[in-house]
Amino acid sequence: MTRTKRTFLCFFAVATLFAWAADTPKRPRLVLAIVIDQFRYDYLQRFRQDYNSGLKRMLEQGAVFTDAHYLHAATVTAVGHSTFLSGATPSVSGIIANEWYDRESNQSVTSVFDPKSKLVGGVPGAAGSSPRRLLVSTIGDEIKMHGLESHSIGVSIKDRSAILPVGHMADAAYWYDPDSNHWVTSTYYYAELPGWVRKLNDENRYQRYLGAKWLPFDAKDDSAKPFCSMVAGSEVRFCGGLEATPWGNEMIEEFAERAISSEELGRHAGVDILAVSFSSNDYVGHAVGPDDPAVRDISIRTDRLLGKLLDYVDGQVGKGNTLVVLTADHGVAPVPEVNEARKMPGGRLSEVLLSRKMTDALTKRFGPGKWFLPSPATMPYLNLELIKTRKLDPDEVERVAAQAASTEDHIARVYTRHDLLAGQVQRDDIGRAVSLGFYGPRSGDLVILQEPYYLFEATGTSHGTPYDYDTHVPMIFMGSRIKARSYPERVAVNDIAPTLAAILQIQEPAGSVGRVLSEMLEP
Ligand SMILES: [Zn+2]
Repeated sequence: MTRTKRTFLCFFAVATLFAWAADTPKRPRLVLAIVIDQFRYDYLQRFRQDYNSGLKRMLEQGAVFTDAHYLHAATVTAVGHSTFLSGATPSVSGIIANEWYDRESNQSVTSVFDPKSKLVGGVPGAAGSSPRRLLVSTIGDEIKMHGLESHSIGVSIKDRSAILPVGHMADAAYWYDPDSNHWVTSTYYYAELPGWVRKLNDENRYQRYLGAKWLPFDAKDDSAKPFCSMVAGSEVRFCGGLEATPWGNEMIEEFAERAISSEELGRHAGVDILAVSFSSNDYVGHAVGPDDPAVRDISIRTDRLLGKLLDYVDGQVGKGNTLVVLTADHGVAPVPEVNEARKMPGGRLSEVLLSRKMTDALTKRFGPGKWFLPSPATMPYLNLELIKTRKLDPDEVERVAAQAASTEDHIARVYTRHDLLAGQVQRDDIGRAVSLGFYGPRSGDLVILQEPYYLFEATGTSHGTPYDYDTHVPMIFMGSRIKARSYPERVAVNDIAPTLAAILQIQEPAGSVGRVLSEMLEP
């Protein structure tokens, strides 16, 4: 080969390499993954005029999916947070509820309860939490398994909301311990809190809010009517705790800023992850419902807080280096009494009556006995020991209990374990949502669903159904390769993880069932 030829080939190889590098988009330095707990999609529309900060910026500069839903029926915190960055349904991730009856250890367990770990930074010796019950990988796990240098951190008031989005290989998850008023973690991550977290705890910033009143965001002075007070027994509604006020979110945001600066997030060679879950919206929403002015107020304050966080990230990581994704873990139903007053359906049901109806039917047919293990009436666990000693057919016992439950007023559907495992369910969206929420080794023996707008709670409101007010949530992406506009097609929250995997050029998480939202990506 002549020298010229070799030079030419060499030039060609380098040129090809450059062309390839130009074709491969640059990865963001930081993924800022945000969940607002119990933030219904329609809060973006109802309070739009009042947003002038973070939510406004995301709505104007982001890809806004206006019809994003969860695929699963059990729309609760743990399940939403485990779906967020895994793309998995509970039928694969194993996170079927906030808590369930664990037949192996014969006790109720939470989604993150881990007796092998201990709490770090709170009450000494208290049991810790970890992602061990999550059966699949997350985006954070896949970044690390890809071999990229990455720091990933989760933070929230709730342990499950801090732990589940970031997954198994996270550097740390931090949550708030109301007993000690400290940010805590568990021995799964660290034997001791990092210095910067200890320092933040030592500042005792919660003391700012002792005895405070939550006034409307635009109150001119103290004469405005407060939404709640941190002092119990006053004329004003008792807030219940710091977590149930906008100050809970403020403490989370403050922690997120400290994490970014102390852990130098967005300044490592690969891609860092900061998952922030704002919990206070959920506590407030449960107490007063979606139509109360307090929910509007905390939504507006969330807009301001998000703006503060986005500005801070821009300053620390540099504009254009961060990919922001925002969603909620579930929606919420209206308060039944509010619905009743406006001629809408709905009301309150009793778990005690439902349980009694099933127990009576089983007693009548098979004789008296402790037929159920401690479990919610809407996902009961049968006493398999008793069924075995009486030499009964579990399928038949399920059927008798299901038949009894289905005759209770305002029960829409009852599914048995047998039917769900055999795939014998009504082939519509609700049948599919219940099936996707069912994981044989962990789920109960019946899944009982009430009619829309009916609740088993005695006060306030809740969520946890496959109805649209619970499944429809915001879903917004913002970053350098994202085409900013509104996307009206129906998508699933499960599409977030595969889309992030495509942007980051890494393996999709193990249980991901979503699709890449290629319509919003610049080529
Ligand atoms: Zn909730």
